[in-house]
Amino acid sequence: MKPQVLQVARRLIEFPSVSATSNVSISEYIASLLERGGFAIERIKYRDAAGVEKLCIAAKLGKGRGGLSLTGHSDVVPAPPEGWTASPFKARVQGGKLYGRGACDMKGPVAAALCAALRFRPGQLRAPLYFICTADEEVRARGAREVVRNSRLFREAAGGYGLICEPTRLRVIHAHKGSLHLEIRSRGRAAHTSTLKGVNANIAMIPFLAEMKKIYELVLRSPRYRNEEFQPPQSEWSIGINDHNIATNVTPVQSVCTIRYRPMPGVDTEGLIRRTRELAQRHGLAFKVHWVGAHLYTPPDSPLVRLALELTGTRSSRSVPYGTDGAAYAKRMKHLVVLGPGDIAQAHTVDEWVEIDQLHWAEELYARFIERVCTRLP
Ligand SMILES: [Zn+2]
Repeated sequence: MKPQVLQVARRLIEFPSVSATSNVSISEYIASLLERGGFAIERIKYRDAAGVEKLCIAAKLGKGRGGLSLTGHSDVVPAPPEGWTASPFKARVQGGKLYGRGACDMKGPVAAALCAALRFRPGQLRAPLYFICTADEEVRARGAREVVRNSRLFREAAGGYGLICEPTRLRVIHAHKGSLHLEIRSRGRAAHTSTLKGVNANIAMIPFLAEMKKIYELVLRSPRYRNEEFQPPQSEWSIGINDHNIATNVTPVQSVCTIRYRPMPGVDTEGLIRRTRELAQRHGLAFKVHWVGAHLYTPPDSPLVRLALELTGTRSSRSVPYGTDGAAYAKRMKHLVVLGPGDIAQAHTVDEWVEIDQLHWAEELYARFIERVCTRLP
């Protein structure tokens, strides 16, 4: 018997796969469903920055290269139980909605994509169908980066079409901003502040921060840093400051500035990185680029976007300001759209939910996508 979307979504929610914990068991569950459905499975393993074992799954049905990839992630943001009506990892159905951490972002969508994929048999396909499920989407898309770097099946799939099944209320998203993470550090020497023997790490940081404020103002005001295809058309040069000082009578020994920015097509992000690196060097600070996630941009008149509009019965695609695993995939996969059930407004919330109807509609939509891209049409 074919798996039912609601049952699969409930089962997925019951794995407490918060990004910081291992996702091996939920990934193996997804792999077992795909394997039973005749998919070939590739396991992409790695250890995260804390040494925790992570597992991404890439799966393939049919022969050849390209075709269609359905993609999702199995990790969820933390869910402290305060405020929740019931346990966040106990799926609950009420009033046409499925509740639980990840119901919307994105275990419900993953269940819909899985159930659609499992309707097909290899003999029906003229182009391959891929299913990719990552870890650590919520942590700078680390899992997707591992997939891009190490997955043989992703390399095969990259020339084809990709659907990122994140919640969009089944509207077609052809573009999202990228993601840039910088870290600048200053080091000092600890001492009791009464002794004047310390070196305060914050002092070296202060003139640098004044320069960062200039960039902050520049990217909000200058037309060179705007792209009217996005809403908002600018991105914030988001400056974080931390000295992790243990007591106010101890000289701060470290000062850390974090910068987060959301690159857009046509904006000189490399220039901003270069300028920040030079300023850090001039002020004797350590500079590190943690990650540059690509923006996603598939032209709105491209065949994939046109097909997505046709199948969803909508007139135009749009952009969103937040990122997805597409920030990693877009470097290799040029035809990508974000399209999935549920509303991003529900993602990461207390009592997170998704409408069950949305899950059924998404399953049908993904199945029609597979038919159009992968099967032998009569
Ligand atoms: Zn997500």
